Amino acid sequence: MLRYLIPAALAASLGGLAPSADAQSEAPSQGHWALVVHGGAGVIERGAMTPDREAEYRAAMAAALSRGEAVLESGGTSLDAIEAVIHGMEDDVLFNSGRGAVFTAAGRNELDASIMDGATLSAGAVAGVTQVRHPISLARAVMDNSRHVMLQGEGAETFAREQGLEIVEPAYFFTERRWAALERTLISLGLEIPPRPEGAPAPTGVDHGELDRDAREHRFGTVGVVALDRAGNIAAGTSTGGTTAKRWGRVGDSPIIGAGTYASNASCGVSATGTGEFFIRLTVASRICALVEFQGLDLQAAADQVIMDELTALDGDGGVVALTPQGDIAWSFNTPGMYRARLSEGGEPVIAIYGDEG
Ligand code: ASP
Repeated sequence: MLRYLIPAALAASLGGLAPSADAQSEAPSQGHWALVVHGGAGVIERGAMTPDREAEYRAAMAAALSRGEAVLESGGTSLDAIEAVIHGMEDDVLFNSGRGAVFTAAGRNELDASIMDGATLSAGAVAGVTQVRHPISLARAVMDNSRHVMLQGEGAETFAREQGLEIVEPAYFFTERRWAALERTLISLGLEIPPRPEGAPAPTGVDHGELDRDAREHRFGTVGVVALDRAGNIAAGTSTGGTTAKRWGRVGDSPIIGAGTYASNASCGVSATGTGEFFIRLTVASRICALVEFQGLDLQAAADQVIMDELTALDGDGGVVALTPQGDIAWSFNTPGMYRARLSEGGEPVIAIYGDEG
């Protein structure tokens, strides 16, 4: 088991401690980096998307790949690539993470994120933070600079301040589009609409056609990345605002190691998106990796078994992106679409939205 915790490049230089032949076949040999990204899954259908909106999403996914490429191409670590990719997506109102986060029923933005290092199985996660601009960096700080794996709420914010992370007013996360979506959801649930948050800008008109599409598309919009660096190390990270009108401090799968995020150099890395309750119950991310490690399934078969068979059997909806230390990339989703993109060193970027492409 220990051999799996040794980064491949280091193991190769350790002579007597070098992995056995079977482990070598599991360890990366090429030293090529690779990257796979998602921006959420949902009922995303061609007819329901305007050409402009589609172009915006494709450009945002291309930009995400470029940020990861810049880190990995210059020899950076998979963990740094995860942070760089997710920072940009957390700042982009298109995605339900950071600035574009959805609202709770109480009218707050409560953000969740996690990150995991496949070389050491170290991990960090945060839940329910309201003032940290980049929750993925707070998750990273929990992993790197605390003896804990998961922090939540006020304690997590205190730790963020101590770590010198960028703190913003809660209203920084306010967007009219998500607020209007909250109002609609609360009306449909028969729940009271809370006052607009303090510091929120004056109400502006919203594009009701777009809201109709949002509602129909039942888009999630969580973001996630799995990266492999040239040293052969896998890492995975996920960041989200959760689900619209969530209540009572609800936490989804995204910050739960093994459910929404998992990485191990022994098998693979996974980031998930979808209705988190199902992903928690199935421990989706670690289950896919376990099928690869212990049942010898190839990555695509493992991802499909968990998403297309097991998640679907529970009536759960969503998908995953995944990557092995050998550079195999897979995605699997049981929704009509998932924003997704991948790039391997020396290859061409692939960007896809609908179920019938990519
Ligand atoms: N999985 C997230 C959650 O349940 C939502 C999403 O992926 O959009 O919080």
